[in-house]
Order: sequence, then structure tokens, then C-alpha cells
Amino acid sequence: MTESKQISLVLKRRPGGMPGADDFAAVEAPVPVPGQGEVLTRTLYLSIDPYMRGRLWDRASYAAPVQLGEVMTGESIGEVVASAAPGFAPGDMVVGSRGWQTHSLTSAKALVKLDPHGPPLSTYLGVLGMPGVTAYSGMTDIGQVKRGETVVISAASGAVGSVAGQLAKRAGARVVGVAGGPEKCLWVQETLGFDDCVDHRSMDIAAALKDACPNGIDVYFENVGGAVQHAAFSLLNPFARVVMCGMVAQYNDEKPPPGPNLGFVVAKRVRIQGMIVSDKPERFPEWRALAAPWVADGSLRYRETVIDGLENAPEALAQVLSGGNFGKMLVKVA
Ligand code: NDP
Repeated sequence: MTESKQISLVLKRRPGGMPGADDFAAVEAPVPVPGQGEVLTRTLYLSIDPYMRGRLWDRASYAAPVQLGEVMTGESIGEVVASAAPGFAPGDMVVGSRGWQTHSLTSAKALVKLDPHGPPLSTYLGVLGMPGVTAYSGMTDIGQVKRGETVVISAASGAVGSVAGQLAKRAGARVVGVAGGPEKCLWVQETLGFDDCVDHRSMDIAAALKDACPNGIDVYFENVGGAVQHAAFSLLNPFARVVMCGMVAQYNDEKPPPGPNLGFVVAKRVRIQGMIVSDKPERFPEWRALAAPWVADGSLRYRETVIDGLENAPEALAQVLSGGNFGKMLVKVA
């Protein structure tokens, strides 16, 4: 990939199931020149997130789908190469929605400048970025964890789940994770400090979760759906809170599977509330101010899987949808 060319991955066709490299095409163009108010950046890190799968379907959602031939959407960290906007100069580091491309021309208004001497830049896509804010918002606004309660976190080793569970521990809860495989479960317990972790890939999830939650579940932070959701819902206590954050297990499905038994929600007066991280933009600076010192002193743990090369972004997305990532998935572009 040369510096004189801009390489972009555009959506070539809509995948029916698991997305792959053949669904995207690399398009080369001369590196663009910024117009008034615009900034040219080169991509350092690309964030790979489960929501991206939703953008590949041509169906109504809270955000518009990516159109065929359009650059795949995504957040990234970039370095300013050229600027025609006040306040941005070459060498500045920024975060913004810049898409799957080596270089991006963006309105300065859509970029946030980062302190190069602050936390590692990649953390602004993970623990200090959108996934971290998602965990913080979900736990603060919906979970409302109280000391001594039992909290269950699905996809517990992931970008959102790892932070959500640590926040619940900080609030004094007993925290049980659900993760795929012994290595992830070990990390969730030994490094993140969860009290227990259930391996949904090798255990009878319903029986194992019941054993791990003898007092039922007061807060369930939902990241996956499917069998884990069925197991967790049946253990909800009266007045439990369910943070409906995501259901990655069904993002590749053409048709949604039959729903959970919502009778529990009625009978136990359980409140389920969906959330979208962008609903409360004020959480971004709030969370960074709160959590950056925790990242700096090592008390807020995180893990990243970094894959080299923009061309591997489709593979990275496939991995995040199938558990190939361990912690926050990133693509290193430059
Ligand atoms: P993760 O880093 O947690 O990666 C996804 C993980 O999901 C995988 O590592 C895997 O973990 C798990 N997974 C994948 N397929 C399945 C399956 N079939 N059954 C069970 N688990 C599965 O991703 P994020 O932390 O970025 O996102 C977590 C959730 O939060 C997603 O549902 C996402 O859409 C949602 N989200 C919602 C936001 C909002 O505003 N509402 C904002 C950001 C994220 P394992 O191997 O442990 O099973």
C-alpha cells in the first residue's frame, strides 16, 4: 500500500450468512486533497465491531445500511496528513468514523483530536472508546447495580463485556461471565476479577449458569442472545434489570429465531430497555475522564487482538462474529 494511493474497501455484494473477503472489493484512487473545512488523515487503527454485520443487510434499522459500491463504514484512529481546517495540523492524532480505507477525507467537525501523550491510541476504539462507553452507559442507566447483587455478563471477555463486568465488580456485585472456551474464561476470572465464568461452548449452559447463580440474576448484560439468553432469562429475579445491548449470535441469520419467553418479563416486572451508545454523546468525554486514569494505573484491564493490514478487515470482521477475537478487535493499517 503506497502513500500516494488511497485504498478503500467497498461493499461488493451483500453476504447471506458469515461475511468474507469476497463480499468486498479494494478500490484504488489518488490520495484526495482537503477542501475548506476538511482534513486528510491516514488510518492507523480500524475498529472492528459486531454492529458492522447489521450494516451489510438491506433492512431497516437504527442506522442506514451500507450501499453496494460504498466504502464500508467504521471508526478508526488516524494521523492528520494535510488540513484545510483550523485546529488540525499534520501529525495530529484523531478518532472518527472514517471507514475501511487507508486515507480518509473528513469534515473536521466529525473528528475528535487525541492527546498523543495520553493513553495508547488504540484504547480510543476499545476500552476508552465506543465499546467502553456502551458498557458504562448500559450499567449506569439500565443495570443500576447494587452491592451484593448477582450480575451476569455475556461475551464477557469482549470489548463491551470485559468493561461491563469490571464496572459491576467496582459496584460490589457478584459477577458471573459467560465466554467461549477455557482460555477466555480463565482470563475473565483471573485477570478481570469476575467471581465465576461459564463456558457456553463446552457446557450445558442452562445447568452451568444455574449452578453459578444460586441466588438468581439481578442484572443481565445481554451481548449475544440465543441459548445464553434463554438460560439467563429463566434465572432472572423479580425486579431484575436486563441491559439489552446486542445479540451477536443472530446477526448472520436471514430470519430472527423464535423469541425468548417474554412471560418472565411480565410476571416478574422485569424492565428490559434497549440502548444505542450514540443516544448519550455526553458519555464519551465523561467516560474518558473517568477511565483514562484507570487505564493508566492498570486497574481497568483490557485486551486487544490486532490484525495487520486493511485487506484483512473482512477476515477480522468474520472473526469478531465467530469468537476469533480475544478482547477488542483492531486492524492495524499503518
Ligand atoms: P466482542 O468483543 O464481545 O466480540 C464478539 C463476541 O461475541 C465474540 O468474541 C464471541 O465471544 C461472542 N459471540 C459471537 N458469536 C456468538 C454466538 N453465536 N453465541 C455466543 N457468543 C457469541 O464484541 P463487542 O464487545 O464489540 O460487542 C458485544 C455486543 O455489544 C454485541 O452484541 C454488539 O452488537 C453490542 N454492542 C451494542 C452497542 C449498543 O449501542 N447497543 C454498542 C457496541 C456494541 P465468545 O467466544 O466468548 O462467545
